[in-house]
Amino acid sequence: MPTQPESDVQASEDAFRTEVRQFLAAHFPAELSGTGNMLAGLDGPTNETPVQKKWREAVGERGWGTPTWPKEYGGGGLTKGQARIIEHEFAKVGAYNPIGGMGVMMFGPTLLEYGDEKQKLEHIPPICRGEIRWCQGYSEPNAGSDLANLQTFAVDKGDHYLVNGQKTWTSGGQWADKCFAIVRTDRSDKHKGISFMLIDMDAPGVEVRPITMISGTSPFCETFFTDVKVPKENLVGREGQGWTIGKRLLQHERTNISGGGRLAGMMGQSLADVAKKYCETGGDGALVNKVLRDKIADFEIRSNSFLLTARRAVEESKAQGGVSEISSVLKKVGTKLAQERSELLIEIRGLQGLGWEGDEFGDDELEDVRGWLFGKAATIYGGSTEVQNNIIAKRVLGMLDHQ
Ligand SMILES: Cc1cc2nc3c(=O)[nH]c(=O)nc-3n(C[C@H](O)[C@H](O)[C@H](O)COP(=O)(O)OP(=O)(O)OC[C@H]3O[C@@H](n4cnc5c(N)ncnc54)[C@H](O)[C@@H]3O)c2cc1C
Repeated sequence: MPTQPESDVQASEDAFRTEVRQFLAAHFPAELSGTGNMLAGLDGPTNETPVQKKWREAVGERGWGTPTWPKEYGGGGLTKGQARIIEHEFAKVGAYNPIGGMGVMMFGPTLLEYGDEKQKLEHIPPICRGEIRWCQGYSEPNAGSDLANLQTFAVDKGDHYLVNGQKTWTSGGQWADKCFAIVRTDRSDKHKGISFMLIDMDAPGVEVRPITMISGTSPFCETFFTDVKVPKENLVGREGQGWTIGKRLLQHERTNISGGGRLAGMMGQSLADVAKKYCETGGDGALVNKVLRDKIADFEIRSNSFLLTARRAVEESKAQGGVSEISSVLKKVGTKLAQERSELLIEIRGLQGLGWEGDEFGDDELEDVRGWLFGKAATIYGGSTEVQNNIIAKRVLGMLDHQ
């Protein structure tokens, strides 16, 4: 394929940068500058204000929240270079990407790979516009690390399946419109008896019960399916292909959890700046406590190296056709670093870093304590660290027989 001369690439990137700046000037409300991407959270557009809604719609209409996804399904149809320009220009004015959630992180890319044309046309555009909230129906009371042990069963009833069973730890289940689920369609084969299907959360027979977490919030649920009718057209791929599709989705999930996820989000706040606020500094402005100084420097070096490595690994995987088992390495290391960072914040703040409520604590202090506790879950969800170790041993290092 002929390559574009470098000067042409530069000119078209410059033109695109101007377009993004004009778009921001016309559509990004200054009052949202610096606010977080709350709408990409589990509750999606549940509580958005009219101003947030307008911003979501403006970005969604252009497909710029999912910039590299195909245009025919509502994505931006842009190159990686253009996507980076959007990221960069948005960051410069403190604009968040209002399109997100599980649809963007894991379900969309999986459906683009395994869905049929009708499914893609139906489900991808609303994800690109941030209109639909998806939840993940994988784990069950006896199927977490050993996910293929799942027992939720779908009986073939001709034009539909009748689904019965229980899922658990369904993040955002109480707000979700739809659920991508792996269910059993055949009991005779542990892995080949699993199918991947899409279930409406408001279908008769679906019930959710929120579970309260240690951080005090209830972002996830038990989900019960009792005689839930699922149309045959909601089966993704072939019957029995669910384990392959489901594992692929987990690679997207793990890449997102680590690569650009929690840790990257945290790095906006400089640990050194926080430390200078809480700890004694000398005449040169440096921290007097040399041990703490060393710990912060060591952490910043390792985490920044990790983020660069993660970025490179993700780009390399994409160039080779998508995410890969490297996602397990990224998830293992990225979640550990995020936990380390939360611990360091507490060490820096001392007792002031352990408040649960009360006027003597600032909002950021209270938020970070909850983040520290929630962060404990990061080495569990998306597959525990021990499970990642098994995958790395088997599939990355080839230390054990494949199964
Ligand atoms: C905050 C949060 C959100 C979640 N959201 C969702 C969601 O939206 N949808 C969903 O389907 N699930 C979700 N999960 C569930 C998550 O995927 C499971 O918790 C996880 O896979 C572990 O399964 P389990 O809890 O059943 O633990 P178990 O599988 O019972 O594991 C218990 C312990 O044993 C260890 N262990 C188990 N097997 C092995 C092994 N073979 N080798 C070494 N160690 C092993 C594990 O590492 C763990 O420490 C969420 C979990 C959390 C904490």
